[in-house]
Amino acid sequence: MANDSNKFQAIISHCKEYGFIFPSSEIYDGLQAVYDYGQMGSELKKNIRDYWWKSMTQLNDNIVGIDAAIFMHPTTWKASGHVDNFNDPMIDNKDSKKRYRVDHLIEAHAEQMEKDGRIDEAKGMLVEMENLLAKDDFAGLKQLIADHGITCSVSGTSNWTDIRQFNLMFATEFGAVAAEEGQDNIVYLRPETAQGIFVNFLNVQKTGRMKVPFGIAQTGKAFRNEIVARQFIFRMREFEQMEMQFFVRPGTEGEWYKYWKEARLQWHLSLGIPAESYRYHDHVKLAHYAKEACDIEFNFPIGFKEVEGIHSRGKFDLWQHQEYSKKKMQYFDNDIDPATGKPYGNYIPYVIETSIGLDRMFLLVMSHAYEEQDLSTPEKPDSRVVLKLPAKLAPIKLAVFPLTKKDGLPEVAERIMDECRSSFRCFYEEKDAIGKRYRRMDAVGTPFCVTVDHQTKEDNTVTIRYRDSMEQERIPVSEIRNRVLQAIG
Ligand code: ATP
Repeated sequence: MANDSNKFQAIISHCKEYGFIFPSSEIYDGLQAVYDYGQMGSELKKNIRDYWWKSMTQLNDNIVGIDAAIFMHPTTWKASGHVDNFNDPMIDNKDSKKRYRVDHLIEAHAEQMEKDGRIDEAKGMLVEMENLLAKDDFAGLKQLIADHGITCSVSGTSNWTDIRQFNLMFATEFGAVAAEEGQDNIVYLRPETAQGIFVNFLNVQKTGRMKVPFGIAQTGKAFRNEIVARQFIFRMREFEQMEMQFFVRPGTEGEWYKYWKEARLQWHLSLGIPAESYRYHDHVKLAHYAKEACDIEFNFPIGFKEVEGIHSRGKFDLWQHQEYSKKKMQYFDNDIDPATGKPYGNYIPYVIETSIGLDRMFLLVMSHAYEEQDLSTPEKPDSRVVLKLPAKLAPIKLAVFPLTKKDGLPEVAERIMDECRSSFRCFYEEKDAIGKRYRRMDAVGTPFCVTVDHQTKEDNTVTIRYRDSMEQERIPVSEIRNRVLQAIG
């Protein structure tokens, strides 16, 4: 059985073996922190994306979606602060040449101290780190590393360089001529999807006749030149985000922040994932413009880590774009302010942002679903790997198996396929013993299998087998489609 430390490795292997995730360009030995989704993975990822999209846009009348381009005018990233501030402090070990994100290096050391029972000392060190990071005090951080004797995991030495800032944006050139950095044809691969929403704020508000409070949602690729890019799809250089910016009247941001903090956790719980796997992490260190911010953390096999951020960003982004573009980012609110008896009038809306990584959510769903079960009896050793995926996210919803390849059973099974395939994803298989076929479906998380046998031809019933309980019952053929639809609805 996998314990937490090797469960992560087991999930990575499972993802590869069953067509969920492959290393990018694997035949050339892969590309660090870049991954491809296979035939099962792309379905699961799409289902997660659709579930988010639907719960944001379809279930909220005041939230609409957009699909902005990855390339944006370079000034966007000046205005957003990414050109100047989207940095991580890094430190290199001179002996191993290994580069570390300073916060990760110190946090890893704190984890080790906690394991050694030095809990208070570890906490104290982390508090000091937060303070120093907040002040960008790099000399202080280097001293902290020295004081605690933190060494490189490869060389084992504490022969460190000074701490430097490293910008995480990928740059490329527009047009045929290569340009030096700083010249006009430099463009960036967006490091977040949010700015595509901010620059379209007026377009959407006016053409959609949107009334504050309203939201704009978007899913799409983002790119960050992460230095410490290990941990499988947890931290990638190319990844996908699902973000929503909610525009509110200034003064109401506190209550909307609370609302979205709660609503986003409820979304996670609606997938049937237990509440104890989650916790909030309220930020102490806030960006200078931020009013409040928190992360929703999940208990991954690698520990509690951020999966989603909820940020109260004030008017910072729209204000910045107004400054840089010289276009008014205002909204006219004709609701009556009870304090004055007059309309609220013109203002730059405040923003609450919800930002979740699709790939990280994928890893979360996998971590929750992956189970190795010992099914041995005194007579026979047995085990299975099952993905207990929420039915609505499963890549395949229903597998249809004729017991044998003859006696007209495949034809009956084909008719069931014909009836169901336009409603949800089905899978047909007639090879191998039924038990083996069930196991293969367990491994990719298919919630329902039906077997067509000789009795089916007599009374039009099939055996339906439930993935999680492995229980079986006979139901009429005419009920199959509804059973599945009910579970995924
Ligand atoms: P971290 O502290 O883990 O680097 P962050 O605080 O920089 O993340 P945000 O900028 O708030 O992350 O991005 C919102 C969400 O996007 C994160 O909660 C995470 O789910 C996802 N995300 C961010 N960076 C990556 C990455 N490199 N790979 C995969 N997902 C990511």
